Amino acid sequence: MIEVKNLDYTYPCGHGLKKLSITIRSGEFIGLIGPNGSGKSTFLKNLYRELEPDEGSIVLAQKELSTYSYRESALLMGVLSQHHECAYDYTVYEMVEMGRTPYRESSHDPVRNAKIEFALKQVGIESLCEKSFSALSGGEKQRVLLARAIAQDTPILLLDEPTNHLDIYYQIQVFQLVKSLGKTVIAAIHDLNIASMYCDRLYVMNEGKIIQEGSVEEVITQEMIQKIFHVPSLIVPHPQTKKPAVIYLEERENV
Ligand code: ADP
Ligand code: MG
Repeated sequence: MIEVKNLDYTYPCGHGLKKLSITIRSGEFIGLIGPNGSGKSTFLKNLYRELEPDEGSIVLAQKELSTYSYRESALLMGVLSQHHECAYDYTVYEMVEMGRTPYRESSHDPVRNAKIEFALKQVGIESLCEKSFSALSGGEKQRVLLARAIAQDTPILLLDEPTNHLDIYYQIQVFQLVKSLGKTVIAAIHDLNIASMYCDRLYVMNEGKIIQEGSVEEVITQEMIQKIFHVPSLIVPHPQTKKPAVIYLEERENV
């Protein structure tokens, strides 16, 4: 579904991505983990075309991404990015409606309106429809942007820390919902326990490179957490799912 080979991207300051290669099959739920500044957002921005790679290739559904028009790639990929700013004051309904822009439908199209209603309902924001987007809390905005990506109805979803600003109830709700959609998902995820619960496969980023890749069992280990995040931990099987669950420990030497 998505094949990235030797992707290089450098910001003028010199930071960026170095020789990133990733292969994602249709229907996989992929987590990108790694410390702040490791390049997760930069990688996603190269995928959703906010940034253009310096070198390397991104192939989407057997075709080089740069050969798609923006409208064509918007029919394949929905995005929940981290910016919440909006130049104009749209209502929640109008924000979600924007997810349908690439389809060029009439506003009376019943399929279009059903997709919008479905997205609002799935995310549980029907009651916010007439509210002004800019007046919402960070968590509410995040859910509206998720509804917009769902209304876009694409086979691929790119999510940049989708549960930032959300309390644990909505974090779980968002991940369960996204998982239930059965799409190909690439999500930058801060919380290793959440990544462990929902991802099929993880890529670990550090300093603009992918340094490890594998199943959650292979990747979420004491060694990785120590090496990448510099935190001692204990990994135990989740009592329900048996997936690795992380308990963070304090450094005890000086205690
Ligand atoms: P992450 O999402 O993993 O926290 P980012 O992709 O945002 O990491 O950042 C990767 C690196 O690129 C960091 O060193 C960051 O400071 C730098 N960076 C990110 N955005 C920009 C930008 N717009 N201009 C210059 N450097 C940037
Ligand atoms: Mg980021």
